[in-house]
Amino acid sequence: MTVISATSDTQSLQAAVRPLTNKVALVTGSTSGIGLGIAQALAEAGAHIVVNGLGRMDEIEQTCAELRRFGREVDYDGANLLDPAGAAALVENTIANHGRIDILVNNAGIQHVSPVEEFPPERWDAIIALNLSAAFHTIRAALPHMKAQGAGCIINLASVHGLIASPYKSAYVSAKHGLIGLTKTVALETARLGITCNAICPGYVWTPLVEKQIDDTARARGISREAVISDVLLAAQPSKRFTTVEELCGIAAFLCGPHAASITGTTIAVDGGWTAQ
Ligand code: NAD
Repeated sequence: MTVISATSDTQSLQAAVRPLTNKVALVTGSTSGIGLGIAQALAEAGAHIVVNGLGRMDEIEQTCAELRRFGREVDYDGANLLDPAGAAALVENTIANHGRIDILVNNAGIQHVSPVEEFPPERWDAIIALNLSAAFHTIRAALPHMKAQGAGCIINLASVHGLIASPYKSAYVSAKHGLIGLTKTVALETARLGITCNAICPGYVWTPLVEKQIDDTARARGISREAVISDVLLAAQPSKRFTTVEELCGIAAFLCGPHAASITGTTIAVDGGWTAQ
């Protein structure tokens, strides 16, 4: 006979409503856009959050205060992920401050739009460093702890541009293809250890990163902002609308939860049908 106590009822309710209760989640680039949305979703699901990213300190403090509304611990680490040592230290500080790391979301990213022959080498280096190498450095630092815990969830924010290419985005496309390769490799190395590693591949989401691309693309192609949105950004996205941050948050929270334990090494396209073509 199963005895159901008030305590176990409360615990099951908590597990159902806040399945990430007391997990520690580090979300890189969570001061803005998709990363901020994912940090909110994980806090809502019960996780403690380490916020990372650039920005004005008063705005970041406001962001952290809003995340604390969910009743979890929230702290900010302003590590610059262009620096490999900074990326590793971000993970080590998370573990030092919270005693563990359960969820690592590699989300910080930048973009530059330019034909290959005009692409500034320093922009290439920065995009590869942030969009690809930083994920290697954080994963490398986190894995020994996740292995010791026998559990962990790694999510890499790739892109449809990790699956297919577009012109004028050589560094971004290269970095995102590499990030998917890293995702698959880490998944294979950890498949029997209770750790999952997956890549989310959004189509266009209207965030500050895309807002900046609109002007860059308009310049590169000599067309208006309106033409960039309809004829370039959404031209290949059959839904003809931007993917929303909320749609990505739901997938990230699901990947961190108990029903996604067998999902690893995969890419989840959230692109309004773009890569179905
Ligand atoms: P965003 O510009 O709104 O946010 C980027 C975040 O990265 C910010 O928090 C920023 O402060 C942080 N960041 C930038 N440089 C950093 C550095 N040196 N060190 C630490 N943090 C740094 O961009 P977003 O649109 O929310 O993009 C988030 C991720 O999603 C990126 O990896 C991006 O490539 C990917 N993505 C975005 C779209 C889109 O359409 N917006 C589509 C596909 C993939």
